[in-house]
Amino acid sequence: MQSASSPVAVTLSDVSKWFHSFQVLKDINLTVRNGERIVICGPSGSGKSTMIRCINRLEVHQQGKIVVGGIELTNDLKRVDEVRRDVGMVFQHFNLFPHLTVLQNCTLAPIWVRKMGRRDAEEIAMTYLKRVKIPEQAHKYPGQLSGGQQQRVAIARSLCMNPKVMLFDEPTSALDPEMVKEVLDTMVSLASEGMTMLCVTHEMGFAREVADRVIFMDAGQIVETNSPDEFFSNPQHERTALFLSQIL
Ligand code: ADP
Ligand code: MG
Repeated sequence: MQSASSPVAVTLSDVSKWFHSFQVLKDINLTVRNGERIVICGPSGSGKSTMIRCINRLEVHQQGKIVVGGIELTNDLKRVDEVRRDVGMVFQHFNLFPHLTVLQNCTLAPIWVRKMGRRDAEEIAMTYLKRVKIPEQAHKYPGQLSGGQQQRVAIARSLCMNPKVMLFDEPTSALDPEMVKEVLDTMVSLASEGMTMLCVTHEMGFAREVADRVIFMDAGQIVETNSPDEFFSNPQHERTALFLSQIL
Protein backbone atom coordinates (compact mmCIF):
# COMPACT_ATOMS: atom_id res chain seq x y z
CA MET A 1 0.00 0.00 0.00
CA GLN A 2 1.26 3.47 -0.80
CA SER A 3 1.42 6.29 1.70
CA ALA A 4 2.57 9.90 1.63
CA SER A 5 6.01 8.70 2.73
CA SER A 6 6.41 5.98 0.07
CA PRO A 7 9.20 6.58 -2.41
CA VAL A 8 8.23 8.44 -5.55
CA ALA A 9 7.78 6.27 -8.67
CA VAL A 10 6.98 8.93 -11.27
CA THR A 11 7.06 12.72 -11.24
CA LEU A 12 5.91 15.12 -13.93
CA SER A 13 6.82 18.74 -13.21
CA ASP A 14 5.38 21.52 -15.37
CA VAL A 15 5.32 19.22 -18.39
CA SER A 16 4.20 20.74 -21.66
CA LYS A 17 4.11 19.28 -25.14
CA TRP A 18 3.13 20.51 -28.57
CA PHE A 19 2.25 18.78 -31.79
CA HIS A 20 3.41 21.49 -34.19
CA SER A 21 1.61 24.59 -32.94
CA PHE A 22 -1.04 22.65 -31.03
CA GLN A 23 -0.36 22.43 -27.30
CA VAL A 24 -1.48 18.96 -26.25
CA LEU A 25 -0.14 19.04 -22.64
CA LYS A 26 -0.21 22.19 -20.54
CA ASP A 27 1.91 22.41 -17.39
CA ILE A 28 1.17 18.93 -16.11
CA ASN A 29 2.17 18.28 -12.50
CA LEU A 30 1.79 14.81 -11.07
CA THR A 31 3.59 12.76 -8.43
CA VAL A 32 2.92 9.04 -8.24
CA ARG A 33 4.24 7.11 -5.23
CA ASN A 34 5.20 3.47 -5.17
CA GLY A 35 2.14 1.27 -4.91
CA GLU A 36 -0.25 4.03 -5.88
CA ARG A 37 -3.10 3.36 -8.30
CA ILE A 38 -4.12 6.32 -10.45
CA VAL A 39 -7.06 6.37 -12.82
CA ILE A 40 -7.01 9.01 -15.56
CA CYS A 41 -10.18 9.95 -17.36
CA GLY A 42 -11.44 12.76 -19.53
CA PRO A 43 -12.91 13.48 -22.93
CA SER A 44 -11.42 12.12 -26.13
CA GLY A 45 -8.56 14.31 -27.33
CA SER A 46 -7.80 15.72 -23.87
CA GLY A 47 -4.21 14.40 -23.89
CA LYS A 48 -4.53 11.28 -21.71
CA SER A 49 -2.68 8.95 -24.08
CA THR A 50 -0.03 11.55 -24.81
CA MET A 51 0.61 12.07 -21.12
CA ILE A 52 1.11 8.42 -20.27
CA ARG A 53 3.12 7.83 -23.45
CA CYS A 54 5.49 10.57 -22.29
CA ILE A 55 6.19 8.51 -19.15
CA ASN A 56 8.07 5.88 -21.17
CA ARG A 57 9.09 8.37 -23.83
CA LEU A 58 6.95 6.98 -26.61
CA GLU A 59 6.25 10.70 -26.91
CA VAL A 60 8.80 13.40 -26.19
CA HIS A 61 7.85 16.36 -24.00
CA GLN A 62 9.30 19.76 -24.84
CA GLN A 63 9.08 21.55 -21.50
CA GLY A 64 9.27 20.54 -17.88
CA LYS A 65 10.72 17.45 -16.30
CA ILE A 66 9.72 13.78 -16.11
CA VAL A 67 11.49 11.50 -13.64
CA VAL A 68 10.75 7.77 -13.52
CA GLY A 69 12.36 5.60 -10.85
CA GLY A 70 14.86 8.36 -10.14
CA ILE A 71 15.88 8.70 -13.80
CA GLU A 72 15.10 11.88 -15.71
CA LEU A 73 13.84 11.33 -19.26
CA THR A 74 16.05 13.21 -21.69
CA ASN A 75 17.61 12.47 -25.07
CA ASP A 76 20.01 10.07 -23.34
CA LEU A 77 18.73 6.87 -24.95
CA LYS A 78 20.59 4.60 -22.55
CA ARG A 79 18.63 6.04 -19.68
CA VAL A 80 15.41 5.89 -21.70
CA ASP A 81 16.05 2.16 -22.18
CA GLU A 82 16.62 1.78 -18.45
CA VAL A 83 13.28 3.43 -17.75
CA ARG A 84 11.45 1.35 -20.36
CA ARG A 85 12.78 -1.86 -18.83
CA ASP A 86 10.94 -1.03 -15.63
CA VAL A 87 7.76 0.41 -17.11
CA GLY A 88 5.18 -1.94 -18.60
CA MET A 89 2.60 -0.65 -21.03
CA VAL A 90 -0.71 -2.14 -22.12
CA PHE A 91 -2.46 -0.55 -25.08
CA GLN A 92 -6.03 -0.48 -26.32
CA HIS A 93 -5.15 -2.68 -29.30
CA PHE A 94 -2.97 -5.27 -27.49
CA ASN A 95 0.03 -4.80 -29.86
CA LEU A 96 1.07 -8.47 -29.65
CA PHE A 97 3.40 -9.84 -32.32
CA PRO A 98 1.03 -11.80 -34.60
CA HIS A 99 3.72 -14.13 -35.98
CA LEU A 100 4.88 -15.25 -32.51
CA THR A 101 3.07 -17.61 -30.17
CA VAL A 102 1.71 -16.39 -26.87
CA LEU A 103 4.71 -17.90 -25.09
CA GLN A 104 7.17 -16.33 -27.57
CA ASN A 105 5.47 -12.94 -27.14
CA CYS A 106 6.07 -13.27 -23.41
CA THR A 107 9.69 -14.44 -23.56
CA LEU A 108 10.98 -12.10 -26.28
CA ALA A 109 11.90 -9.12 -24.09
CA PRO A 110 13.16 -11.14 -21.09
CA ILE A 111 15.51 -13.06 -23.45
CA TRP A 112 16.71 -10.12 -25.56
CA VAL A 113 16.54 -7.23 -23.13
CA ARG A 114 17.09 -8.93 -19.76
CA LYS A 115 19.43 -11.57 -21.30
CA MET A 116 17.54 -14.32 -19.51
CA GLY A 117 17.98 -17.96 -20.55
CA ARG A 118 15.12 -19.36 -22.65
CA ARG A 119 14.18 -22.00 -20.05
CA ASP A 120 13.96 -19.47 -17.25
CA ALA A 121 12.07 -17.00 -19.43
CA GLU A 122 9.54 -19.69 -20.36
CA GLU A 123 9.09 -20.72 -16.77
CA ILE A 124 8.40 -17.14 -15.73
CA ALA A 125 6.08 -16.62 -18.70
CA MET A 126 4.05 -19.69 -17.73
CA THR A 127 3.75 -18.38 -14.17
CA TYR A 128 2.24 -15.14 -15.46
CA LEU A 129 0.06 -16.86 -18.04
CA LYS A 130 -1.34 -18.90 -15.14
CA ARG A 131 -1.88 -15.73 -13.18
CA VAL A 132 -3.92 -14.21 -16.01
CA LYS A 133 -5.68 -17.59 -16.28
CA ILE A 134 -4.71 -18.66 -19.81
CA PRO A 135 -1.75 -21.06 -19.50
CA GLU A 136 -3.50 -23.42 -21.94
CA GLN A 137 -3.16 -20.79 -24.70
CA ALA A 138 0.65 -20.63 -24.50
CA HIS A 139 1.31 -22.29 -27.84
CA LYS A 140 -1.38 -20.53 -29.84
CA TYR A 141 -0.95 -17.41 -31.97
CA PRO A 142 -2.63 -14.14 -30.97
CA GLY A 143 -5.04 -14.36 -33.91
CA GLN A 144 -6.46 -17.58 -32.48
CA LEU A 145 -7.44 -15.88 -29.21
CA SER A 146 -10.39 -13.70 -28.22
CA GLY A 147 -9.78 -10.01 -27.58
CA GLY A 148 -10.02 -10.51 -23.83
CA GLN A 149 -7.50 -13.33 -23.96
CA GLN A 150 -5.13 -11.27 -26.12
CA GLN A 151 -5.29 -8.40 -23.67
CA ARG A 152 -4.50 -10.75 -20.80
CA VAL A 153 -1.49 -12.01 -22.79
CA ALA A 154 -0.41 -8.39 -23.21
CA ILE A 155 -0.61 -7.91 -19.45
CA ALA A 156 1.29 -11.17 -18.79
CA ARG A 157 3.91 -10.13 -21.34
CA SER A 158 4.48 -6.87 -19.48
CA LEU A 159 4.67 -8.63 -16.13
CA CYS A 160 7.39 -10.96 -17.43
CA MET A 161 9.73 -7.96 -17.39
CA ASN A 162 9.01 -7.51 -13.68
CA PRO A 163 8.00 -3.85 -14.11
CA LYS A 164 7.95 -1.36 -11.29
CA VAL A 165 5.19 0.68 -12.92
CA MET A 166 2.37 -0.37 -15.25
CA LEU A 167 0.73 2.03 -17.69
CA PHE A 168 -2.64 1.12 -19.16
CA ASP A 169 -4.17 3.07 -22.03
CA GLU A 170 -7.87 2.20 -22.32
CA PRO A 171 -7.14 -1.54 -22.08
CA THR A 172 -10.79 -2.55 -22.28
CA SER A 173 -12.23 -0.08 -24.74
CA ALA A 174 -11.62 -2.25 -27.83
CA LEU A 175 -13.18 -5.32 -26.20
CA ASP A 176 -16.63 -6.81 -26.58
CA PRO A 177 -18.60 -6.15 -23.40
CA GLU A 178 -18.48 -9.76 -22.19
CA MET A 179 -14.67 -9.67 -22.20
CA VAL A 180 -14.24 -6.46 -20.26
CA LYS A 181 -14.67 -8.12 -16.88
CA GLU A 182 -11.95 -10.73 -17.34
CA VAL A 183 -9.41 -8.01 -18.14
CA LEU A 184 -10.57 -5.75 -15.30
CA ASP A 185 -10.37 -8.70 -12.89
CA THR A 186 -6.75 -9.19 -13.92
CA MET A 187 -6.05 -5.50 -13.31
CA VAL A 188 -7.79 -5.58 -9.93
CA SER A 189 -5.66 -8.52 -8.83
CA LEU A 190 -2.52 -6.71 -10.00
CA ALA A 191 -3.58 -3.69 -7.96
CA SER A 192 -4.16 -5.86 -4.88
CA GLU A 193 -0.57 -7.11 -5.18
CA GLY A 194 0.67 -3.55 -4.79
CA MET A 195 1.64 -2.72 -8.38
CA THR A 196 2.08 0.99 -9.13
CA MET A 197 -0.48 1.66 -11.84
CA LEU A 198 -1.54 4.54 -14.06
CA CYS A 199 -4.67 3.58 -15.93
CA VAL A 200 -6.45 5.60 -18.56
CA THR A 201 -9.93 4.14 -18.43
CA HIS A 202 -13.56 5.09 -18.36
CA GLU A 203 -14.43 1.98 -16.35
CA MET A 204 -15.70 3.87 -13.35
CA GLY A 205 -16.45 0.70 -11.37
CA PHE A 206 -12.75 -0.11 -11.61
CA ALA A 207 -11.87 3.43 -10.53
CA ARG A 208 -14.10 3.13 -7.46
CA GLU A 209 -12.70 -0.26 -6.56
CA VAL A 210 -8.97 0.28 -6.91
CA ALA A 211 -8.00 3.91 -7.50
CA ASP A 212 -6.24 5.87 -4.79
CA ARG A 213 -6.78 8.97 -6.91
CA VAL A 214 -8.82 9.82 -9.97
CA ILE A 215 -7.44 12.43 -12.34
CA PHE A 216 -9.66 14.28 -14.77
CA MET A 217 -8.04 15.81 -17.84
CA ASP A 218 -9.52 18.28 -20.27
CA ALA A 219 -7.86 20.19 -23.10
CA GLY A 220 -4.33 19.15 -22.08
CA GLN A 221 -4.69 20.05 -18.42
CA ILE A 222 -5.23 18.16 -15.21
CA VAL A 223 -8.47 19.83 -14.18
CA GLU A 224 -9.18 17.83 -11.06
CA THR A 225 -7.51 15.24 -8.82
CA ASN A 226 -9.55 13.58 -6.12
CA SER A 227 -10.28 10.42 -4.19
CA PRO A 228 -12.78 8.24 -6.09
CA ASP A 229 -15.49 8.90 -3.50
CA GLU A 230 -15.16 12.67 -3.76
CA PHE A 231 -14.63 12.56 -7.50
CA PHE A 232 -17.94 10.83 -8.15
CA SER A 233 -20.09 12.29 -5.39
CA ASN A 234 -18.73 15.81 -5.24
CA PRO A 235 -16.90 16.85 -8.44
CA GLN A 236 -15.14 20.16 -7.96
CA HIS A 237 -15.34 21.45 -11.50
CA GLU A 238 -18.17 22.01 -13.91
CA ARG A 239 -16.26 20.19 -16.65
CA THR A 240 -15.85 17.12 -14.41
CA ALA A 241 -19.54 17.13 -13.55
CA LEU A 242 -20.47 17.44 -17.21
CA PHE A 243 -18.15 14.59 -18.15
CA LEU A 244 -19.55 12.36 -15.40
CA SER A 245 -23.11 13.11 -16.46
CA GLN A 246 -22.21 11.90 -19.95
CA ILE A 247 -20.56 8.62 -18.99
CA LEU A 248 -22.41 7.43 -15.90
P1 ADP B 1 -6.80 11.21 -25.54
O1 ADP B 1 -5.98 9.99 -25.27
O2 ADP B 1 -7.22 11.95 -24.30
O3 ADP B 1 -7.98 10.92 -26.41
P2 ADP B 1 -4.53 12.07 -27.12
O4 ADP B 1 -3.41 12.21 -26.17
O5 ADP B 1 -4.57 10.83 -27.96
O6 ADP B 1 -5.90 12.26 -26.33
O7 ADP B 1 -4.57 13.27 -28.11
C1 ADP B 1 -4.64 14.61 -27.66
C2 ADP B 1 -4.66 15.55 -28.84
O8 ADP B 1 -3.42 15.48 -29.53
C3 ADP B 1 -5.74 15.24 -29.87
O9 ADP B 1 -6.23 16.45 -30.36
C4 ADP B 1 -4.99 14.49 -30.94
O10 ADP B 1 -5.60 14.67 -32.19
C5 ADP B 1 -3.63 15.15 -30.90
N1 ADP B 1 -2.58 14.20 -31.27
C6 ADP B 1 -2.31 13.02 -30.70
N2 ADP B 1 -1.24 12.43 -31.26
C7 ADP B 1 -0.83 13.26 -32.26
C8 ADP B 1 0.24 13.23 -33.21
N3 ADP B 1 1.10 12.20 -33.27
N4 ADP B 1 0.35 14.27 -34.06
C9 ADP B 1 -0.49 15.33 -34.00
N5 ADP B 1 -1.51 15.44 -33.12
C10 ADP B 1 -1.69 14.42 -32.26
MG1 MG C 1 -6.27 8.04 -25.81
